[in-house]
Amino acid sequence: MFRLQDVSYLYPSAQKGAALNHVSVAVSQGEFRWLLGPSGAGKSSLLRLLALDARASSGMVEVLGVPVMQARRGVIARLRQRIGVVYQDFRLLDDLSVFDNVALPLRLQLRPESEIRHEVNAIMKWVGLGSRIDALPPQLSGGEQQRVAIARAVIHRPALLLADEPTNALDDRQATRLMTMFHRLAELGTTIVVATHNDALVRKYPAHAIELMQGYLVQEG
Ligand code: ADP
Ligand code: ADP
Repeated sequence: MFRLQDVSYLYPSAQKGAALNHVSVAVSQGEFRWLLGPSGAGKSSLLRLLALDARASSGMVEVLGVPVMQARRGVIARLRQRIGVVYQDFRLLDDLSVFDNVALPLRLQLRPESEIRHEVNAIMKWVGLGSRIDALPPQLSGGEQQRVAIARAVIHRPALLLADEPTNALDDRQATRLMTMFHRLAELGTTIVVATHNDALVRKYPAHAIELMQGYLVQEG
C-alpha cells in the first residue's frame, strides 16, 4: 500500500541536515503500524510525504500503488482523496460548522447530499459528538476538536489513514475507542500509520512499528 526506498527529505529551509535520511520501508494493505521516535526524529515529515503534502528530495515513493515522485498534479490530487489524515494541530476550518468540516471529503467526491447527511450523522454519533454538529470548531474543547478531526479523516473510508498523535487530547476511554476503530478499519483493508509518544497506548496495543531516530530508520518490525 506504500513503499519508500532510500528516501531522503530536506526541508527547503533546513538549517541542520535532512529530516529523513535514506529511509526504506514498505507496508501492505490492511496493516497497522505505529510510528515511533523522539521529538524531531522525522515522524511528521514521514507522514507529510505519505500524505502527499510534500515531495521527497530523493529516493522512490509509492503510495497506493502509484509511484508519486514524478506523478502529475491531477494524479496526486486524486490519490489524496483516498488518504485520510489526522493532523497534530487538527486543521479544522474554523468558519465551517462541525458538520461541514466532516462532510468535506465526501463533498470532494460529489456524493449526494442525503448520503452525506446520513454518513456524517453516523460518524459523529460514533465519536460521541452527535449533538455538536452545528457548532463551530473554536466552540469545542481540544478533545472534541480532535474527535472531529478523526471523523473527517475516516468518513470517506480512505485506503490509507495517517494520524499524527491522534490521542494527545483524548482521555483514556476515548483513546481506547479510537484504537478499536483503527483496528476495525484495518480489518476492512485500510492501511494505518499512527505516530505517537503515548507509550502506555503502544504497550496496550502491541503492533509492528516504524521507528525513527534523527531521520534514520532504526527499526521496522
Ligand atoms: P517529529 O515529528 O518526529 O517530531 P519532524 O518530522 O517534525 O519530527 O522533524 C524532523 C526534523 O525536521 C527536525 O530536525 C525538525 O526540526 C525539522 N523540521 C520540521 N519541520 C520543519 C520545517 N517546516 N522547516 C525546517 N525544518 C523542519
Ligand atoms: P508542479 O511542478 O506540477 O507545479 P509542484 O512541485 O509545484 O508541482 O507541486 C504542487 C503541489 O503538489 C505541491 O503542494 C507539492 O508539494 C504537491 N506534490 C506534487 N507532487 C507531489 C508528490 N509526488 N508527492 C508529494 N507532493 C506532491
